Amino acid sequence: KTDFAERAAIALGAMRKPPVVHALDDVSLDIRQGEVVGLVGESGCGKSTLGRIMAGMLAPTEGIVLRDGADVAGLKGRKARAMRLRTQIIFQDPMSSLNPRRRVGDIIGEAPRFHGLVDKAGQEKLVAELLETVGLQPEMAQRFPHQFSGGQRQRIGIARALAVKPDFLVCDESIAALDVSIQAQIINLFMELRERLGLTLLFISHDLSVVQHISDRVVIMYLGRVVETAPVDRIFEAPNHPYTQALLDEIPRIDRRNRSFATIRGEIPSPVNPPKGCHFHPRCLHAFDRCRTERPQLKRLQAGHESACHLNDLPPSQQPLKWEENNEML
Ligand code: SF4
Ligand code: MG
Repeated sequence: KTDFAERAAIALGAMRKPPVVHALDDVSLDIRQGEVVGLVGESGCGKSTLGRIMAGMLAPTEGIVLRDGADVAGLKGRKARAMRLRTQIIFQDPMSSLNPRRRVGDIIGEAPRFHGLVDKAGQEKLVAELLETVGLQPEMAQRFPHQFSGGQRQRIGIARALAVKPDFLVCDESIAALDVSIQAQIINLFMELRERLGLTLLFISHDLSVVQHISDRVVIMYLGRVVETAPVDRIFEAPNHPYTQALLDEIPRIDRRNRSFATIRGEIPSPVNPPKGCHFHPRCLHAFDRCRTERPQLKRLQAGHESACHLNDLPPSQQPLKWEENNEML
């Protein structure tokens, strides 16, 4: 009996043992001060993990995060705290991150007060300023979160993040839960704030079209790896990686002659056991033998444009038609 119970327990333990997931695999990302980087990929590609690591909420198992040249993990005490305040993260669902029993003024003013950045009177003034900064009225400080719309709640979330005077914001699907018209308003707000406060932004989204108007540069991730990075116009005009092309192809557009150039096939594979070689090969229209065994490395195509695809090593005569040749604008 004991033996059976023991064996059952061992079997259960084995079943419960979580699989090892390499959420990020050899990812290197640098962001310049004042830059807005759009980080795009399907869910499970590791973009949120990367965002949390960059925001200092999660320590990488390997590798380092440098801020102004200093290893963030090496900072202690006051310096570590100051560094954490400099980066704020804004999540998708403002309701779940706003305490329903507290007034908005307290929600926004809590962190600066706690960290001794303001006193009681200073807090009220700061909250009023922040509410105006995000396009709300100062009187709204007296209200509770449920008295606001989804878009207004996201503005409150942004005001709360700004309250500790960060210079870097990580926006993780910050507008994904909002109606399209409200999304545009919040994007405009981010663009305004960036101008006014000189913020650096990492804008994470599963939707390439969302990052188009706000980003200077776009980074595309697939199953824990960066597959392409380029200035935003380049990504939209001349995407190189078949995965990027497939993402672009999913954006409905009326000015495109030829749709379904690289429509994405199948589901995203599990990150627990990603395909060998190029992770994208089971879904790629252009996959060839080498793709199934050898990992493609990021390769510089031109200044600021890198892509990890074996097609770039083929002679031009064997390469598929370029996206831009196939997608002349009307
Ligand atoms: Fe497709 Fe091969 Fe390029 Fe991967 S390396 S994107 S499978 S062509
Ligand atoms: Mg996510």
